[in-house]
Amino acid sequence: MIKIGAHISSAGSIDLSFDRAKEMGAECMQIFISPPQMWVKPEISPQKIERFRKKAEESGIGPNFIHGVYLANLATSSPESLEKSIDWLRFSLKTADILGLKGTIIHVGSHKGSGFAGCLKQVAQAIKEILDSSNSSFSYLILENCAGSGGTIGCNFNELGQILKQVRSDLIGVQDDRLKVCLDTQHAFASGYDLRTEEGVWKTLQEFDQEIGLENLIAIHANDSKTELGSKKDRHENIGQGLIKEAGFRFLIKALQTNPKVSDVVLLLEVPGLEGKGPDKPNLDLLKSYLK
Ligand SMILES: [Zn+2]
Repeated sequence: MIKIGAHISSAGSIDLSFDRAKEMGAECMQIFISPPQMWVKPEISPQKIERFRKKAEESGIGPNFIHGVYLANLATSSPESLEKSIDWLRFSLKTADILGLKGTIIHVGSHKGSGFAGCLKQVAQAIKEILDSSNSSFSYLILENCAGSGGTIGCNFNELGQILKQVRSDLIGVQDDRLKVCLDTQHAFASGYDLRTEEGVWKTLQEFDQEIGLENLIAIHANDSKTELGSKKDRHENIGQGLIKEAGFRFLIKALQTNPKVSDVVLLLEVPGLEGKGPDKPNLDLLKSYLK
């Protein structure tokens, strides 16, 4: 069954995210474990971990995810920045394990124009180092597709597919499938995947299946788009108020529901919200209404 949730604020204390999720009716969630614009690795006290795990169990909200810091860039040409990225993501995987979270969703990063081919090896090696440091068998590292500006990696499914193949077959072995993918609908639309029509949605999922494999699709960032198809701009809009429109999301949900490979994927909202305070109940209710 498809679950619908959202990015939820963890301000104050991470366990409060469950209270906020419950209030707006989110069935699963994504949180930051540290300010996304900084290299911070906050220590989480045993009491907070216990509270977090207890609320997870009591609320039944999940699977839940961490969104990585925006600074992380596995394709950077700076050794120092690469080391910081690997170090933070190792910390995030460890934290996800401690908190019982399903995984850490990250943007792969940007090569700033030098080309994908030249940084594929570095990215794959970095991912291997991150996964190697984790003993968890249930917590994933999840690569998100991007909108496509400034040499960012993963704006088409082929690039993400190449990374998965390189990491699995050459580095950690095909049996290790802890590397997964998150599809952001706004980013996909901005990078040229037409999600407005039924045919476009089917084509998009078909290409995803060919290049990455739909069995690797773990989560969807369900966001409408402020900017045009192929604009390469990362601008999220409330569900139904952007250019993908209600019809696009209805087609997407229908396509997911009828495909056994993805019929239990989770949808997470990262929309501005009607009051501009982030994902809210009206957006969640609207998306949920498309399930029927
Ligand atoms: Zn996203």
